[in-house]
Parts: sequence; structure tokens; C-alpha cells
Amino acid sequence: MPLRARSILGLALLLLLLGQPQALARSAAGDPVAPWAKVPAVVVVGARTDDARLPLVQDAVAFWNRSFAELGSAFRLGTVSQADATVPVDELRALSGRVLSGTGPTQFPPESLKGVPGDLIVALSDGDFVSFAMRWRSLGKALVAIKSDRFWPLSLPNVARNVIAHEIGHAIGLGHNSDPAALMCGRPAPCRPDLFQSPTERYFPVTAEERLLLLSFYPADWRAQ
Ligand SMILES: [Zn+2]
Repeated sequence: MPLRARSILGLALLLLLLGQPQALARSAAGDPVAPWAKVPAVVVVGARTDDARLPLVQDAVAFWNRSFAELGSAFRLGTVSQADATVPVDELRALSGRVLSGTGPTQFPPESLKGVPGDLIVALSDGDFVSFAMRWRSLGKALVAIKSDRFWPLSLPNVARNVIAHEIGHAIGLGHNSDPAALMCGRPAPCRPDLFQSPTERYFPVTAEERLLLLSFYPADWRAQ
């Protein structure tokens, strides 16, 4: 395709995406996602001593902040700290089921997170369930819950790293795509987290469409409210 036609096509795609952010901005649970209006402080709960997932949360936040910087967006995720709290595995399993069935978020975050500071809580669980992200927009809170890395597929090399980045991707407003080579691939596409397995530690990429969508959510003049 000639360069001019390609750039016109690119512009048309950009306008299409900017015109319909809500159509694409759906979480895995199917609910519309609004961009963050503040810099969300990230708080990790449930981390064991020497939990290998803890540095991966730091890495994932750095990954997304690098992506925002490359995009020219003014938005950034906030600092990562730890708090003392544990969400019961049964409760995480139930919330995970709500996300998988498209039921949507509960009215309030889990009781066990009451008093936990921060906006984006990352629960590193010992349990076995499908990792998920849930957002309570009116409360300005989000929960990312990550299953134990002792269970398949998070026990596979390079999987936990990408699952954590994927779930944080939902928490900042991205839905799923159907490209098995991309970070945000997911249901209803058949790709599953074991696809992230790799002998080398690397992040799967964010697609060009998702980058445009993120920039429409969080433009260069984005300011915390
Ligand atoms: Zn997902």
C-alpha cells in the first residue's frame, strides 16, 4: 500500500478509535471502564517473604509507565508499596467467577481491604483461581488479584510477569484482543496465560490499537483531578 494511503488509513483508524472509546473500553467483565482521574497509588497485599511476584508488580508498573512515556501521555501509575492484609481465597475465587461470567463488580471491594490505603490494590494470593482485575469506579478503587505462582500456569517461566502486566492493563482501561502474540489477548479468544511461557523474560506487546486507545484515555495534557 502506498505510504499516503497507509497514513490516511491510519488517520481513519485513529478517528474511529477516538470517536468510540467506550465501544472498545470494556473490561474483561464487560463493564465500561473510565480512565483514572488521579495517579493511582499501587498497594500490594498478601505478598509472602521473598515472593517472586512482588518485583514483578514493580516491573509491570514500570512497563506501563514506560509505555505511557513512549506514547507522550502525561499519565503514570503511582508508587508501589505494601500493606498488611489478606483477601480470603474463597472470596477471590467468587470475584474471579463474576469476572468470567460477566456479572460485573460487587457493590463494594472485599471487607478485608477496608482501611488498606491506595487506589490500585494488587492481591498476591496463595490460592488457585483465574487471575482477574475488578474496578469500583465510583469509589476510585481497583483490585488486581493474582493466583499463586506455585500453580500452573503461573509456575511456567515468563507467565506471572505477563499475567500481572495484563491484569494491570485491565485496571487502566484495556479490554481483550484476539492476538495470541499480544499482552491483552483473552476471552472470548481461545488464548490463555500459558501462551506467555518463554525461556526468556519478556513482556508481550501492547497493540497499536490499544496504544491509541490509551492515549485517548490519557492524553498529553492529562492532569490529575
Ligand atoms: Zn484479561
